[in-house]
Amino acid sequence: MIRPILRYGADVLHAEAQPVGELTPDIDRLVGDMIDTMYAAPGIGLAAPQVGAALRLCVIDLSVGKRGGELLTLINPEFVERDGLQLEDEGCLSVPGFNAIVPRPQRAVVRALDRTGQTRTIEANGLLARAFQHEIDHLDGLLFLNRLRGLKRDMITRRIRKLQRTGKW
Ligand SMILES: [Zn+2]
Repeated sequence: MIRPILRYGADVLHAEAQPVGELTPDIDRLVGDMIDTMYAAPGIGLAAPQVGAALRLCVIDLSVGKRGGELLTLINPEFVERDGLQLEDEGCLSVPGFNAIVPRPQRAVVRALDRTGQTRTIEANGLLARAFQHEIDHLDGLLFLNRLRGLKRDMITRRIRKLQRTGKW
């Protein structure tokens, strides 16, 4: 089931999410809904707070469902290693219409549970490492805007506030 994607300004997007406990049928349904929502958007990643669930859980698929085997479900993900630096243009389904160059690690190793509850350690470079950092930031209540320097961040948040005031956000 496709769920509405919350936008910048929704409280749950700006707060730290709680660890997932038991992998209950409700959690499995949430994962399924998040995958449906990510593909429908379309996007390459989605974190639970973006659909209103304050839980440490995200889904990533760089192929947006076009290639099998690329879908990752990360439950309670943690960084094991991060190094290097990449500077690429980045956007977010919760900040539609805006993007910016965001500094991210070039390489990241993440440990998480998958949808079946198995612990997995995944090493990533480039875009996947960027997606890991972007989605796990969501679980800490951070959007890519929080990673920007003041001037650029202020410019975007001013424009969003204007959209909010005129009911277009
Ligand atoms: Zn995002």
